[in-house]
Amino acid sequence: AAKQQGRDRFNYFAPFMQEASRARVALANELRDALCGDQLRVLFQPIVELDSGRIRKAEALVRWQHPTRGLLGPADFITIAEHTGAIVGIGDWVFRQAARHAKRMQQLHDPDFQVAVNNSAWQFREGGSNFGEWLDFLDEIQLHPRSVIIEVKESLLLEANHEVGRKLQALHEAEIQLSLDDFGTGYCSVAFLKRYNLDFLKIDPAFFTNLADGADGGAICAAMVGLAHKMGIQIIAEGLETAANMRTLRDAGCDFGQGYLFSRPLSGEELASLMGSVDKSMDIHRTACE
Ligand code: C2E
Ligand code: MG
Ligand code: MG
Ligand code: MG
Repeated sequence: AAKQQGRDRFNYFAPFMQEASRARVALANELRDALCGDQLRVLFQPIVELDSGRIRKAEALVRWQHPTRGLLGPADFITIAEHTGAIVGIGDWVFRQAARHAKRMQQLHDPDFQVAVNNSAWQFREGGSNFGEWLDFLDEIQLHPRSVIIEVKESLLLEANHEVGRKLQALHEAEIQLSLDDFGTGYCSVAFLKRYNLDFLKIDPAFFTNLADGADGGAICAAMVGLAHKMGIQIIAEGLETAANMRTLRDAGCDFGQGYLFSRPLSGEELASLMGSVDKSMDIHRTACE
């Protein structure tokens, strides 16, 4: 009977599983054409200096304008891209788009503008991204490497892989900036971070939503920010949706904020016109910082 049951269960689940993997295989094949087919897009979400209310940076976020499935977000295709190796080509492309746009923002609006680019752990492993080529590209468009912030996740730092360490060091020596994404969702303590040459720490909403409500939430944030600052690390609060959270973090000494409170991710054109409009950025200051 148990055997019969097992077989039934197998029969029941098999079509479902085949369906799911067939969809993944189809998507993986289509992803290969997405790059050459001009279907990828990069959006830019403003990163605001909390003291001044000014947009000083932006994070590049990839999208896939799929011919039949519509606009897909990274959650729909980055994992597949990692497993098929397509992430290397996609990562190179996003980097170039982001760097070109940063150059434009510097020429038009702010010579200190920085762009942040997300990186998958796969790009740091054997056969991953050729960061030497990235540096050549920056040289070609005459964008200083410190204008680019590479965002990595905590799991990458915990990998303790030789190739990963070598690549992180090479980026640091080239003066590319390093940012730790999603801080507060994993295991890293601020003290652990001292061994890396981190320039920025992005605190996840999960880290502060719990804290901000408590009576000593602000004090705990302030202690963490103070420790990071002592190590030369600046803090970016991401996923900021409420003015209350923004105020708590700003008062705790947090340097930058990013989230729907300020702006959703924008096209390059939209970001350029937002940065070009003084009134608009003062509006942001007013809504955000009062
Ligand atoms: P992330 O790097 O932590 O990026 C922040 C995500 O939060 C983005 O989602 C952004 O649109 C969203 N977000 C921004 N403000 C708010 C807010 O106020 N509230 C909420 N609830 N969400 C907000 P998105 O664009 O869907 O990206 C998801 C993740 O995909 C990113 O998380 C990043 O890990 C990854 N990703 C994005 N672009 C790339 C890329 O070019 N390469 C790689 N390897 N990963 C990427
Ligand atoms: Mg990020
Ligand atoms: Mg994040
Ligand atoms: Mg910062």
